[in-house]
Amino acid sequence: MLERPLPEDGTNFLGQSPIHLAVGNADIVRLLLRAGCNINATDNWGHTALMYAAAMDCQEAVLLLLSEGANPCMREEEYGRIFLDYALIRGHGTLFLRAMEKLQELYTTQNFQAFVRRSLVLLTRAEIMRFEHETRGALFAQVCRWCKDVNFSFTDHRRGTDGRNLMHDIRNLQEANALVDAGFNAFNAADSKGELAIHRFAEQPDIELFQFCLDHGTDVNHKNHDGLTVLFRVLWGLDGVPSNIPDTLAILRLAFGSGIDICASDDCNCACSPTGCTISSVFDLGFEGSDIFRDSPWFIWFIECVTLVEEFQGLDKAKAVLMGALRRLHTDAWDITHVCCHRGKGISDRKGILGCFGDQVTKLCDEDTADILDEEADFIDGLENDMASLQDRSHGDLRTEFLSLMKKRYEVHKKVCATESARKDATSRRADSGDKSRVCYFYGPLGFLKCIIKIRQGI
Ligand SMILES: [Zn+2]
Ligand SMILES: [Zn+2]
Repeated sequence: MLERPLPEDGTNFLGQSPIHLAVGNADIVRLLLRAGCNINATDNWGHTALMYAAAMDCQEAVLLLLSEGANPCMREEEYGRIFLDYALIRGHGTLFLRAMEKLQELYTTQNFQAFVRRSLVLLTRAEIMRFEHETRGALFAQVCRWCKDVNFSFTDHRRGTDGRNLMHDIRNLQEANALVDAGFNAFNAADSKGELAIHRFAEQPDIELFQFCLDHGTDVNHKNHDGLTVLFRVLWGLDGVPSNIPDTLAILRLAFGSGIDICASDDCNCACSPTGCTISSVFDLGFEGSDIFRDSPWFIWFIECVTLVEEFQGLDKAKAVLMGALRRLHTDAWDITHVCCHRGKGISDRKGILGCFGDQVTKLCDEDTADILDEEADFIDGLENDMASLQDRSHGDLRTEFLSLMKKRYEVHKKVCATESARKDATSRRADSGDKSRVCYFYGPLGFLKCIIKIRQGI
């Protein structure tokens, strides 16, 4: 490297100037500045000496460069990071705090606040991996104290959402408390998808933070832009990672216990949900597809859900939820076309994405919906008669009715599978005279019921 001739501008092949290489020694940096070195010189990737010093924990060089007028807002080319980002990402907490104090001394309040906000947003991000929880928490609390208004909102480019606030991305209770201590109160401020902070703690289940949001006045009946309350998001967790299911069930209990409206609905108008889809519309009441990968929680979880509604909100509400699912089953028995947002499959959180087995669902326009409902009016009358006959039945009767209808569905599904399997066998025998027998496995619903009973018993 030493043998390489230096270009005329005094940089090496990486674009580093002497000042980049001197940050380990503040005295040399000072001499180079006096000799006329460019304080804001960048290497081939747009890194300044200030960024080098921040990344390598050279505190004296950082303070000197700032005092001598280095530009603290310069961004490197790949990720647009500024020098403070490097201090945080590399885990140099003391350097970060000293640099912030220096910035406060050198810049106007308005400009200093811009550094404060940027740092707070970055501190909630997962890439800050080099800090222990406590250290990051202490840093976060200090920066919160500097912040004039911690209720600010910002754009999250990773998620493509506007209007996020710090609570949307908070990582633990300690930091949530620091935010509230600093004056945070925007628990009911929705992002551009209509979601509150509490939605994330349902999606990535966090019992403490979910409770924290409830305790601080979150409106549990707030609806996102799809017209769904947080309860729908909690229920979606039941088709997620199995290890998350105990936490999801605990959060479901908190949600039901919070007095959330069990009958909240979106604006669908389908024979299965004439006053909008409710939580009964979340579940997949079918047997098609895989037992383990489903787009929405399976019907087994519906039974658990009804039990919890009964426990927290009483028998009438549990009956209403059961009637919702029975209505869906009877809609299918009449072979009525679904015009709801889930087309009878169960509302999924994977809307707009091709799920494992589901087709992409797009909302029908009001005209098409009205035409279909009109064409099938006779069937819908039949459905209404079915529902009227169920209306006065007891909760226990309705539960039995639900299970017996599901059993019938299972029998039909088994027959379809057996026929399909026989057809494939015949085809493969024709194609190859060798013995290639195919076996179709069925998993009985009773097996899954046993699983739930075990989870409830904490086994
Ligand atoms: Zn429907
Ligand atoms: Zn709907």
